[in-house]
Amino acid sequence: MAATIPQGRLQGKNAIITGAGGGIGLETSILFAREGANVLMADVSEPALAKALAKVKEVVPTASRVESIRCDVSKESDVQAMVESQDSWGGTDVIFNNAGIMHANDADAIDTPEKIWDLTHNINVKGVWFGSKHAVLSLRRHKKSRGSIINTASVVALVGAATPQLAYTASKGAVLAMTRELAIVHAREGFRFNALCPAPLNTPLLQDWLGEDKAKRFRREVHFPTGRFGEPIEQAHAVVFLASDESSFVNGTDFVVDGGMTKAY
Ligand code: NAD
Repeated sequence: MAATIPQGRLQGKNAIITGAGGGIGLETSILFAREGANVLMADVSEPALAKALAKVKEVVPTASRVESIRCDVSKESDVQAMVESQDSWGGTDVIFNNAGIMHANDADAIDTPEKIWDLTHNINVKGVWFGSKHAVLSLRRHKKSRGSIINTASVVALVGAATPQLAYTASKGAVLAMTRELAIVHAREGFRFNALCPAPLNTPLLQDWLGEDKAKRFRREVHFPTGRFGEPIEQAHAVVFLASDESSFVNGTDFVVDGGMTKAY
């Protein structure tokens, strides 16, 4: 498992993390705080957010600034208010547009209900667009010459899933395409965009979906050369790199963190 040695790699950077109430977002909030960032944790669930904020403060007592804000990323007014709340911090340097939902339709992919499609796309795609848009507006407002925007996609944007989750897969493909284009058009302003592509991880999102179904779990695990799913902390380390100036020439990537899953046969 990756080591967690604090090095101040994000010292002084103002960061926003959406979906910070659990899973990847919470682990990333902890690492960002350890690395010296000022962190604004955002989530639609107030109870999850309160618990997550308390956790970060407990495990990183030396954190310079960690706060939380309720935000439904599918609502532009919420996202705008979230980003603008960092104006008084000196403006946003990094945003990790990570909030996402997955509804699997175990029956048949072509039966995906339209309302599930719309809900998934409103959060997974529009949420990333709103976060990217307001981050750019903030970077410009504060006359920043560099900024890092990291958008969570998934390996299902790169390889087809055998278990039906069509709305989710399409939404993550949209995140990759959008991230790539934003990376190209904003590169000369110094704003970098990268898409994180995690493979299935041990988070509530996956556990809820797998439930007690051992056969379903096996159908997924068998694709992993490592013989295991990833852990959220392993994604968080990649996000620290993408947020930091160490990745200054990394732009527009599909940043795959999958234990080799997408290269296996
Ligand atoms: P998680 O369910 O543990 O956390 C997701 C968080 O997002 C939750 O706290 C939830 O309350 C929040 N959220 C949901 N809707 C929201 C909204 N409208 N506005 C703001 N917050 C909202 O899931 P996770 O596994 O940590 O997932 C994080 C991201 O990683 C998601 O985009 C997911 O699609 C992606 N991902 C996860 C896996 C996996 O196996 N867990 C694999 C690939 C990609």
